[in-house]
Amino acid sequence: MKTIAVFPGSFDPITKGHESIVRRALPLFDEVIVAIGINASKKYLYSLDQREQWIGKVFEGEDKVKVEKYEGLTMDFCKEKQAQYVLRGLRSSADFEFERSIAQMNKALAPDIDTVFMLSKPELSAINSTIVRDIIRNGGDASQFVPDSISL
Ligand code: ADP
Repeated sequence: MKTIAVFPGSFDPITKGHESIVRRALPLFDEVIVAIGINASKKYLYSLDQREQWIGKVFEGEDKVKVEKYEGLTMDFCKEKQAQYVLRGLRSSADFEFERSIAQMNKALAPDIDTVFMLSKPELSAINSTIVRDIIRNGGDASQFVPDSISL
């Protein structure tokens, strides 16, 4: 049986922080699905197609990485994909507190699925999609925070 992890997020846009978590997780899993969650009530900066295309470009040639989109509960998506793990990145204690509740509630919803946390590399732990979007909206240059292969 394949060991599959889902890495859920909005990736608006994908950052070097996200990229690093996925690359470092690759030795642990047979497949990592970068899953773009669609929340109808959320306003995104970039279109779903654009975000999906960028993620595809970043992991081009990396056979273990798949890019998908999903609506609804992350646990339902994991079950549909037969993923045994959810992958999440941790930058700070604030991330940890937030992620702990989600992971524990997800565990109650889907006891067979575990959340695996990977600590951010120190040099990437300040990178945050919300701040990247603010820089872009205000005309700043956010290119140092996003993967080298994408041009904003
Ligand atoms: P954000 O939290 O920046 O808005 P997402 O909602 O797309 O981004 O988050 C997807 C996952 O990526 C979460 O597990 C989040 O903790 C993780 N992540 C985001 N930025 C980083 C980073 N700089 N280093 C490590 N993990 C990160």
